[in-house]
Amino acid sequence: MEAYCMKCRTKREMKDAEAVTMKNGKPATQGVCPVCGTKMFRIGRSTEQVNKSGPNMRIYVGNLSYEVTEEELRQEFAAFGEVTSVTIITDKYSGRPKGFGFVEMASVSEGQAAIAGLNGKTLKDRALNVDAARPRSDSRGGRFG
Ligand SMILES: [Zn+2]
Repeated sequence: MEAYCMKCRTKREMKDAEAVTMKNGKPATQGVCPVCGTKMFRIGRSTEQVNKSGPNMRIYVGNLSYEVTEEELRQEFAAFGEVTSVTIITDKYSGRPKGFGFVEMASVSEGQAAIAGLNGKTLKDRALNVDAARPRSDSRGGRFG
């Protein structure tokens, strides 16, 4: 998303953009200038967020340690934006985690930041495999409709 950089005196595509709430309660987007690193603000919701049913981003997380909980996974992703859901897949019969799961982020830009920041990161002695989930959802089980 673009914002005006006070230092460069020009519009830049914000880096690390994230949705924030201003003191007056208004939604805004905060990020940094990719050129000079100055903090940038843009008041108002980004176009992604205006559309409520809009592009949430679904992210596949693989190579998960069995010890990682959904709450811990949520915290990892929350550093990059708004997490709307976290699901760790467990075996239907044994109830044991299968070592992978899905995280949904409120916007594609946050999701992409999370993928870039977390793919390969070590969590409980395992390097996470983080990637965009395939858009076509598998209807088997129907847990993710
Ligand atoms: Zn700048």
